[in-house]
Amino acid sequence: MSDEKSYLDLYQIKLIKSDLNLRHTHTDRADKIREWIEQVFFLTNNFNYHQMKNMKFYTILLISILLTGFSTVLSAQNYPFKLPELPYAYDAIEPAVDARTMEIHYSKHHAAYVNNLNTALKGTRQADYSLEELMLYAGELSDVIRNNAGGHYNHTMFWNILALNSPFNAQTGIGKAVIATFGSLDSLKRLLNKAGATRFGSGWAWLYVTTDKKLAVCSSPNQDNPIMDVSPERGIPILGIDVWEHAYYLKYQNKRGDYLATILNTINWEAVNRNYMEALASPLLKVIEKESWTALNIFHEVMAETFHPCEEGNLKPIRERSGELLAKARLLQSGTIPPSFDTPDIKKSIDDLVKGATALNQMVVKKADDKTISKKLGDLHDTFHTIQGLCRH
Ligand code: MN
Repeated sequence: MSDEKSYLDLYQIKLIKSDLNLRHTHTDRADKIREWIEQVFFLTNNFNYHQMKNMKFYTILLISILLTGFSTVLSAQNYPFKLPELPYAYDAIEPAVDARTMEIHYSKHHAAYVNNLNTALKGTRQADYSLEELMLYAGELSDVIRNNAGGHYNHTMFWNILALNSPFNAQTGIGKAVIATFGSLDSLKRLLNKAGATRFGSGWAWLYVTTDKKLAVCSSPNQDNPIMDVSPERGIPILGIDVWEHAYYLKYQNKRGDYLATILNTINWEAVNRNYMEALASPLLKVIEKESWTALNIFHEVMAETFHPCEEGNLKPIRERSGELLAKARLLQSGTIPPSFDTPDIKKSIDDLVKGATALNQMVVKKADDKTISKKLGDLHDTFHTIQGLCRH
């Protein structure tokens, strides 16, 4: 077998893997694209400088098909968002979910979330956000974008975690974790049932992976989910149950409990296992952990509100708030650091931040000139970004 051929095999496997990964919205999209571009360039070089005659037509054809599939999946994760294909026929989950409910739920409700999301994003800065980013920064977005982005993400997951014949397997990754965390599948079902039944009005019940990689159950209102900054429980959802009336009313009327009991016996555990494994490996977990580090966010806010005006020559904010900036740095130093970021490097940078903020505050008190203060605030800003950078690795 020539080198080209073996590389192509590897390349195809990688492409298929990327394609599968991208079906789940919680992958690091930028890394995938970078990896993909690198592969294409490498392959192009191979075409140019090595024995092209060994290439078989069907191989090129296969790659073209894979690339087409790849870009379709990829575009579904960014504006304009696309309604993903329902992975089965409308009647595939009968009798748990009747065909009519499935059809309306998918082709009307989910489709409306996607359309409304695209309409709301059109011409806005948020049109550049990935679906993940729309979740992460939901608190900064309009209610229309937050609800419809959540609706799109949540329903995409919902279709994928339903199946009649994909039973729970205690030997899989998720199987072992469920037993270790909840004692049994029945205990987990009871918790999910309770979460769904006690959610007042419309919302979702979730099984999710926490930032310390444990399993937990919660519920959320409307179309919120645990990825969102507005959620009190943060992590990556791996199983979500829609408890909006539109999900069950035609068949179950007001009996949400009956619907929940039935749907919890209709879970595609193979898909949940896949979601679980991906969530554990997802860089998004670390992002959520950093985003939920309140003391860091509070410091960041004061830093942004003083540093950016200073950059434009306005030192009024920093002259008024240098004491506050120091107080927030001390808060960061004395508070609990999230486990992944509790490293000597980050601790040292936080100490540097307090030292720098102390010195800056003294300069302001002594009414130092603009140039001296600007320089010191710039250095402090760099130190802050060192912490942010360290959090990413
Ligand atoms: Mn729904």
